[in-house]
Amino acid sequence: MTIIIHSKDIYLKILMKKIAVTAALLFTILSQAQRYPKDFVSPLTISISLSANYGELRKNHFHSGLDMKTQQRSGLSVLAAQEGYISRINISAYGYGKAIYIDHPNGYTTVYGHLSELKGAIEERARKEQYKNKNYSVDFYLKPGEIPVKKGEVIALSGNTGGSGGPHLHFEVRDTQTEEILNPFLFGYDVNDHIKPMLRGSWIYPIKGTVNGSASKVVASEGGNYTVSGEVGFGVKAYDQQGGSQNLNGIYFIKIFVNDNLLSTFQADKHSFSETRYINASVDYPELIAHNNWIYRTYLLPGNTLQMYEQKVNRGIVKVEAGKTYKVKIEVGDYAGNVTTRSFTMNGVAYKNPDEDGKSKIENDKLVVNFKSPYIFKQDGLFINFEKDSFYEDFIFNYKKMGNNEYQVHKSSVPIHKKYEMIITPDWSNLDKSKADKYVIIRESNFGPLKKEYLDTSYESGTYKANPKDFGKFYLALDESVPSISCPMLSKSKKIGNKLVFKIKDTGSGINTYDVFIDGKWILAEYEYKQNSLFISNLEKEGIRAGKHQVEVIVTDKVNNKKIYTSDFEKL
Ligand SMILES: [Zn+2]
Repeated sequence: MTIIIHSKDIYLKILMKKIAVTAALLFTILSQAQRYPKDFVSPLTISISLSANYGELRKNHFHSGLDMKTQQRSGLSVLAAQEGYISRINISAYGYGKAIYIDHPNGYTTVYGHLSELKGAIEERARKEQYKNKNYSVDFYLKPGEIPVKKGEVIALSGNTGGSGGPHLHFEVRDTQTEEILNPFLFGYDVNDHIKPMLRGSWIYPIKGTVNGSASKVVASEGGNYTVSGEVGFGVKAYDQQGGSQNLNGIYFIKIFVNDNLLSTFQADKHSFSETRYINASVDYPELIAHNNWIYRTYLLPGNTLQMYEQKVNRGIVKVEAGKTYKVKIEVGDYAGNVTTRSFTMNGVAYKNPDEDGKSKIENDKLVVNFKSPYIFKQDGLFINFEKDSFYEDFIFNYKKMGNNEYQVHKSSVPIHKKYEMIITPDWSNLDKSKADKYVIIRESNFGPLKKEYLDTSYESGTYKANPKDFGKFYLALDESVPSISCPMLSKSKKIGNKLVFKIKDTGSGINTYDVFIDGKWILAEYEYKQNSLFISNLEKEGIRAGKHQVEVIVTDKVNNKKIYTSDFEKL
């Protein structure tokens, strides 16, 4: 009898302990989620539908906010998510276009991008700065109390300005102190979603090892069996889709379990701007460059310190032991809790390191790049200087002189974390020295259509300097093409209404400055590069009254080729 009671006692104790552990776990999960305030309001008055979410994979960066759909149009009211003050106004023809930053007393900053119009005091303050600087593009900070805003106040109208591929609102939440960018879903902006993430593929990556005898990645299918050796990691191609939207968005997490133990977790909660380029280490970059295929690496390259890898044992790498079986489970999840899984088995065999055969003996150890160290290369009038921590793993630098002032600098399939310094001291034999200030360093990728990238080049005492961010083919090219300016409106009739639109274009190094003067006075004009248009949408507002006027437009490119357009017009 006593024995039974005793065992009941133990049972109760275990049960109580279980409840306590579960409660503690639940508390941890809840407090994690509740760390962030949930009293922000939506910046739009329509229900939230996303064309992009936080952490989505983009070229050279993680998408840093939510792209909220605006019914395929501009002009929707944009509301302050919470009370606070306007802390920064950034207006540019590129990037976020017209953007507003609000600092809130709760320690967070919200950002609103691609706006078509700023409202009230915000607009006045921006215009003041633009006229002061005689520049459409301005980026400045405001003092607390200068322009306070209330929760839900209309601060702007949504638009499509800057690097936007269609009308939408780009909305971000940042930590005001650290400027880290946070997943807005943590603040209650998550959307109703019952659709599981789509797992488009999974792979086993031999890091220093083999998969089915191969040193290249192998597709891992559901229920598959694979023979592995050495060190292996995993790759995952996945998207998330939300109810009511056709867009393929980014997934929230990827978890790798090996024999039921959590090996690695990638989770899109937050990152800083200095980390965003780690995307090139967090995906299979060579695969992306060569095949435009986005595969997450679930393991860390040695130089990748991205904080989105929240949990990692041995950098997410399996050190295979011969004779051992590994049951692998991949979980891909969205923020709403929908999870897609894939399971397969790996059987370990012994690894024979090919390096030990002396096959890959390095002939010139000056060409060995250590990812942690700075690296300088100098040859044939080319000087390159990489800061420390510029790479994610060690590699052997590959260089070839292709022609006069033309160089193959490693391969564009190797990502670089930081801009580097490139100085070309040219061989003038087939350059025109009288036009020395019109040469530009051009970069071409080794893959895909050879898209020319004109680098911002400075010419100083016989050398050309630029700061590329990628490898590839580099050469000097003469840019003598002058920008073009036209005004279809004025070529039809010199009598116009309240609007004035110019078409400006440059086929070489690209447009650098654009200025409109009416009757000799600088007038604020907006530049929309996607439409090649430079326009004044409200002449009255800029002080141009009815009557006869003279307009002058001056556009320069990046090597200072200049075009001037003049015309008379009559404002009706
Ligand atoms: Zn966006």
